[in-house]
Amino acid sequence: MRPFRIRLALIMMILIGLSVIVAGYTMGRVFKTTHINALEQTMVREINLLKATFPFHDASDPTSAATRKYYSDRALELDRLTDSRVTFINKDGIVIGDSESDPATMDNHLNRDEIRTAVDGSYGQSIRYSETLRQDMLYVALPVNSDQSDMIEIPSGKFDGYIRLSMSLQAVDQGLQRGWMIMFGALGLLFLIVAIVSYRVARGLTSPIEHITKVAHRITKLEYDARVKVTRRDEIGQLGLAINGMADSLQSQLKTIRDNEALLQSVLANMTGGIVLIDAGQSIALVNREAERMLSIQASKVTGKPYTELKRHYELTRTIEESVALQERMHEEVSVFSPEERLIRMDGVPMYEDHGGYRGMLFLLQDVTAIRRLESMRSEFVANVSHELKTPVAAVKGFAETLLSGGVQDKETERSFLKIIYDEGDRLNRLIGDILELSKIESKRAPLECSPVHVHSFFEMVLGTLSKVAEKKQIRLEMNVPEELYIEADEDKMKQIFINLLSNGINYTPEGGRVKLQVKMDQTSEQEQVVFAVSDTGIGIPKKDLPRIFERFYRVDKGRSRNSGGTGLGLSIVKHLVELHHGKLSVDSELGMGSTFRVTLPLIQEEEN
Ligand code: ADP
Repeated sequence: MRPFRIRLALIMMILIGLSVIVAGYTMGRVFKTTHINALEQTMVREINLLKATFPFHDASDPTSAATRKYYSDRALELDRLTDSRVTFINKDGIVIGDSESDPATMDNHLNRDEIRTAVDGSYGQSIRYSETLRQDMLYVALPVNSDQSDMIEIPSGKFDGYIRLSMSLQAVDQGLQRGWMIMFGALGLLFLIVAIVSYRVARGLTSPIEHITKVAHRITKLEYDARVKVTRRDEIGQLGLAINGMADSLQSQLKTIRDNEALLQSVLANMTGGIVLIDAGQSIALVNREAERMLSIQASKVTGKPYTELKRHYELTRTIEESVALQERMHEEVSVFSPEERLIRMDGVPMYEDHGGYRGMLFLLQDVTAIRRLESMRSEFVANVSHELKTPVAAVKGFAETLLSGGVQDKETERSFLKIIYDEGDRLNRLIGDILELSKIESKRAPLECSPVHVHSFFEMVLGTLSKVAEKKQIRLEMNVPEELYIEADEDKMKQIFINLLSNGINYTPEGGRVKLQVKMDQTSEQEQVVFAVSDTGIGIPKKDLPRIFERFYRVDKGRSRNSGGTGLGLSIVKHLVELHHGKLSVDSELGMGSTFRVTLPLIQEEEN
């Protein structure tokens, strides 16, 4: 397509060219006719003048040499004066004198147009190409009649015929030609001006349109920040504004779409559950971050591929296969190895489009490994508890039965049986108390109630309650606590911690031993901490058992622990309580030498949020 500006210039040039040519042609015609007319009138006047002043001679013998000579000589003289050819013709059409050629050689002129029309006193006129002179000639002839009453008296003889003047039209044609040349020159100049002007006008018109077109193309190529520079207020300016408005609305719509998508993406990415979408073509359409983690896959590598790509997780792939075939809601627990075994709960939902077409299956994956582990721990705990309870209950029941059957006669045995029943009852009581305590702590139903505790007086009180038991075993209780130390803690729970640790120390230390409590500030760490060390000179704990002594019901030596009245729950309660205080618990022990339990608690409990 030819650009608009060139087309406009061409159209303008054609229009102007045509009008100039038409105008020039018409003007040329008018010029020529008026010029010829003027010439004619001049010639008529000249002939009239001749008629009045010419010394006519007798021309009754038109073919005589004398007549011819006379008229030809006069004609020649007149020619010189008027610069036009002069011809004298008698009334019969015989040329009797001519300024250019010999009348003897000229044929009869009666049929010439100018002569035929020059009758009744009016002049005749004709334009012809003259073979003699080889150019266009204007002939004007006027009849001369000496008989006519209005005629001036011809002084020297009679003349009946015509005087004809002829003039070359070359001058007229030349003038006309010059006119044409000037016109063509002007036309050329005009064309140039028109071309330049219309090109500029068109450019003024089209360049903003081209700019708008460019911007529209950029918008098509998703460059939504492209804008038209609007510099005018006319229709083109309006078009630019409309394009800008369109781009604005596109941009804001796109932003909304992108925001929504980003929101969806971040929801998907931050979900705690895994999401896997299998589309209607059985390909993996979507895998979120959590699913990537659970299945040890990379979304970028599996998206778009068939779901069999996940065949490494055999159970999962099989479940997908089944539910994709059924297109029904389902839930299933499968184990995957990535690399350690995990239990994944899969909830599958078929997805449909708005108008009902099947779109694919959406799977929600939940890692239930921890839940299942907890569940099995729970049931294990119940089994343990029942087992622990069974032993004392069986003892109580057995001894009570024996007593009831009346089989025991002597008072002393009876008393020892009753003592056993009492002790076992007491043990049961403690066991149940510990179990309740533990479950209370574990279920977080016992929040910390902190207050400043004066450590020194706190331990004086704690050791006071334990002094009787220690004395019984002749165990020395020692403490080394800074006088001015306060700690922010839940006093009741702190008491539970240290009664447990100290009584363990007393319990697992033979008679004559020593249990010592040492309290120190820990300056090394960033946060201010207090270190409590409970050490004994007791039997110690074998290396292999050290990592397990904080487990519930774990006892190094069942028999021995039971004799000492232990429930196996003390240390796990301690551990929980220390953690509740954001502290740490550790143990050092050497078999036969003694053990040291170290509790580190922050000086100040940080605000929980
Ligand atoms: P128990 O009520 O049986 O003492 P704990 O949970 O308090 O239960 O302790 C777990 C086990 O750790 C005890 O059975 C015992 O074998 C061992 N233990 C705890 N404290 C000491 C200690 N100070 N010296 C030696 N062994 C200890």
